[in-house]
Amino acid sequence: MIETGRLSAINPAREAPQFTPELLQQLAQRVSLFGERAAQTLYSPFDGGVLGVIPICISEDVQLAVERARSAQSAWARVDTRARARIVLRFHDLLLERQAEILDLTQYETGKARRDAQEELLDSAIVAQFYATRSPGWLRPRRTGGTFVGLTQTWEYRHPVGVVGVISPWNYPLVMAVSEPIPALMAGNAVVLKPDPQTTFTALWVQALMEEAGLPPGLFQVVTGGAEVGEALVATADFIALTGSTPTGRKVARQAGERLIGVSLELGGKNPMLVLEDANLEAAVDGAIHGAFANAGQLCVSLERIYVHEKIFDAFARRFVEKTSALRLGATLDHRSQMGSLTVQRQFDTVRAHVQDAVAKGARVLTGGRPRPDLGPLFFEPTILTDVTPEMRVYSEETFGPVVSLYKFSDVEQVLALINQSEYGLNASVWTKDLGKGRALASRIQAGTVNINESYAAAWASMDATMGGFKASGLGRRHGKEGLYRFTEVQTIAIERFVPVTGPTWLPRGWYGRIVTAALKALKWLSRWWYRV
Ligand code: NAD
Repeated sequence: MIETGRLSAINPAREAPQFTPELLQQLAQRVSLFGERAAQTLYSPFDGGVLGVIPICISEDVQLAVERARSAQSAWARVDTRARARIVLRFHDLLLERQAEILDLTQYETGKARRDAQEELLDSAIVAQFYATRSPGWLRPRRTGGTFVGLTQTWEYRHPVGVVGVISPWNYPLVMAVSEPIPALMAGNAVVLKPDPQTTFTALWVQALMEEAGLPPGLFQVVTGGAEVGEALVATADFIALTGSTPTGRKVARQAGERLIGVSLELGGKNPMLVLEDANLEAAVDGAIHGAFANAGQLCVSLERIYVHEKIFDAFARRFVEKTSALRLGATLDHRSQMGSLTVQRQFDTVRAHVQDAVAKGARVLTGGRPRPDLGPLFFEPTILTDVTPEMRVYSEETFGPVVSLYKFSDVEQVLALINQSEYGLNASVWTKDLGKGRALASRIQAGTVNINESYAAAWASMDATMGGFKASGLGRRHGKEGLYRFTEVQTIAIERFVPVTGPTWLPRGWYGRIVTAALKALKWLSRWWYRV
């Protein structure tokens, strides 16, 4: 029997944050509005104290923001891609210069630990550098071959779609305000961002910094509010990039379908970790802790179910519980705390309900399982469950919190079938010393990203490779070329040379068919030789 551990608590933040109430007031004035609006007070999950007040938009404000964005966009589309890149690279440098301010603000808005805020900064800087330097080449008109060599000259042009609406959740506010807008802007679009109300200040901070870096005013707008404001944006923008839950993804897809606009949907997950018999045990335990408890588990790619081979299950469980029990929890602006708070009340309620439901139906809590009001209103202990069965909510529903279930397995084929039974398919993690076997298994897991001997960051940070979900975890991809191209309309321009592909009018009857048949045979022969098929 494994003992429930004792988590060390750290006193709430004593040091003053780098941002001031005046800065928050100035930021709130940047919200796109027609006039006076109702205000919402935002509270910090760190200590429950008031963070600031933001106005909440109505649908007319969204229309105004989209109109303003649209008029700024037509000039932006003509700006050379290298000039766009210079602005984004200046933004990159400013971000690094001002990091103390934004790290504090993000922590106050979300309650996350310093390390998790730092991951946001890292990711945002990488995205800015990546798309600024790659987009000019990728957006150049691309010469392609016509069907018959020499008959046509053909190019593909990439045009901006217009106004991209970005709708985002509260879990990674800096990443969300940077990583979708930047490729959209690099492709020549304007952006209207609707963050979750809880993390509005970070979004406005990013908007202000982009303008300081040289982005034309009006090109990047922020609107505030909940689902109805999101719906108003889907009703007017030219493309929607949503990061959110699967039920919201379905609603947005339906609404976008009516308007025949494009969407990319980055949705939920129930991400598995598979620990094979030959895995490096200590590394796998550390990977499990990072994968399950980074950002207090409020991470789309977070690991929520861990399958461990029976031969190492007991040793793995013992070390995992020991190390999890020793995690330091607290609200600090430095690195003393290893796990922070949950961010919003409804998420806290879901986490508690999942644990209570599992325990009531017979699951065992190996460590954690309790709220920690002594640390802050929304703190919840990192929790490891075992004996979890299909009737429990935590078995198949996304928890999106610091709760992970441990399962023992003996047969790889059976465990693969269990892993792939989920309606989700976002991220997975495989641990083994046999990298060939790891890759072969990974390719059989239905998930958009699979990390070998790592939990989520290896694939996420591989910026040149795509990131997104199979099945109910989403549609479309962020990162890589696809992450840029989804924000473009592609146009084919072809010039006819010498004779028409449909045949010259002066050919005697019957000859066209004979010539085309001979040409098609030659084309097949040449293509097979060229492509080695
Ligand atoms: P949510 O779906 O409730 O809200 C996300 C955003 O959508 C918010 O800004 C919200 O106001 C807006 N929204 C809600 N209903 C809408 C509607 N009908 N039309 C338009 N906009 C609407 O999600 P949440 O609970 O705030 O965030 C957590 C979820 O996000 C989790 O399921 C998590 O897995 C997912 N997520 C996914 C990724 C990813 O990359 N796949 C990343 C982070 C979070």
